[in-house]
Amino acid sequence: MSARDTIAAFEIIDGKLAVGGLPLDRLAARIGSTPFFAYDRRLLTQRVALLREKLPSKINLSYAIKANPMPAVVQHLSSLVDSFDVASTGELRIALDTPMRSDQISFAGPAKTIAELTQAVAAGVTIELESITEARRVLAIGEKLGVRPRVAIRVNPDFAIKGSGMRMGGGPQQFGVDSEVVPQFLHELSKVDLNVLGFHVFGGSQNLRADIICEAQRKTVELATKLAAAMPSPVRYLNLGGGFGIPYFDKDESLNLAMVGTNLQELFDGPIRNHFPEARLVIELGRYIVGECGIYVTRVVDCKQSRGKQFVMVDGGLHHQLAASGNFGQVIRRNYPLAIGNRMTEAVTETANVVGCLCTPLDLLGEGVGVPKVEIDDLVVLFQAGAYGMSASPSAFLSHPPAIEVLV
Ligand SMILES: *Cc1c(COP(=O)(O)O)cnc(C)c1O
Repeated sequence: MSARDTIAAFEIIDGKLAVGGLPLDRLAARIGSTPFFAYDRRLLTQRVALLREKLPSKINLSYAIKANPMPAVVQHLSSLVDSFDVASTGELRIALDTPMRSDQISFAGPAKTIAELTQAVAAGVTIELESITEARRVLAIGEKLGVRPRVAIRVNPDFAIKGSGMRMGGGPQQFGVDSEVVPQFLHELSKVDLNVLGFHVFGGSQNLRADIICEAQRKTVELATKLAAAMPSPVRYLNLGGGFGIPYFDKDESLNLAMVGTNLQELFDGPIRNHFPEARLVIELGRYIVGECGIYVTRVVDCKQSRGKQFVMVDGGLHHQLAASGNFGQVIRRNYPLAIGNRMTEAVTETANVVGCLCTPLDLLGEGVGVPKVEIDDLVVLFQAGAYGMSASPSAFLSHPPAIEVLV
């Protein structure tokens, strides 16, 4: 399994890529304009089913909304996953609009303000404490509102997770409370009226190595076991993070989910049963759930040759889908999977650079890509656009209109 298989997951109807049973030209006509992001409802459902199949049934599956906060997507997922993780009050509002119960929502993230924490305490969600200051604030807010806040401690572990696209744990971090400080922190918390549920460790994002993820999960359970000794009450919540990656490039291999599942089952049968019999065990995922279920679709405005190079010029660009341009955390620019959506079964006959409409050389969506003969008005599809797409792109840059998003 690799990035190519992502393309294969979409239906092809009459030589055209289809989303939710609609061929792309028909979908474009339905939406009325390009560029747009289309998320496939069936693929989202299948993705969660795959996780349910491969991971132990006792795992609580949480969706990290920051990967794709489109309200319709979050609504759809609310009936499929067990909980939501939010990282802002904007995401909190989207989560609370769904049928998801507030005690199944957790709020993580650094530098939460008093106003934000007040909203979260009032909502009754679990606040992942990232510092001692935050704990004091939450306590004061709880007293003022007459609510006993639900909290967990986000722990910055004493180990780092290798191979993550973005590392968010280990060493000095703005995230979480350093693990060596946690026992003292818990001691302070035991003297006040906070409902301390347990721990949350999130070490990093976009990891394709199952062996590394398994090791991180084992180490996380070990660390939590040590920290649990200082808990005033039994651990009722243990969030092992996630960081499951998806293949973006030709050579990327899909994550071996079965291996992760087996490892989690072993942890369940051993240390988790022994040390955390009352805990809700959470895996929280953003990208892995939504990333491969979405495409970004642009229309070809112009095709031109320049000194021997073929340029396909589209009406979208990095202002909607920054990651595909390589400017969102990539060291070396590589192409995201791309196709001419209305010519899926035509043979590749040429090589082109696919560029966006922004007046900057950074707006490169595909470099030296093999394509069939491309014509004006063709639809260029960028895959792997379901996560960290529109909401993670600088939409105001160059003042073009925003993209439309649809769940089909
Ligand atoms: C961003 C984030 C996630 C989601 O990461 P993905 O790589 O999209 O799965 C999960 N948990 C926390 C705390 C995060 O900050």
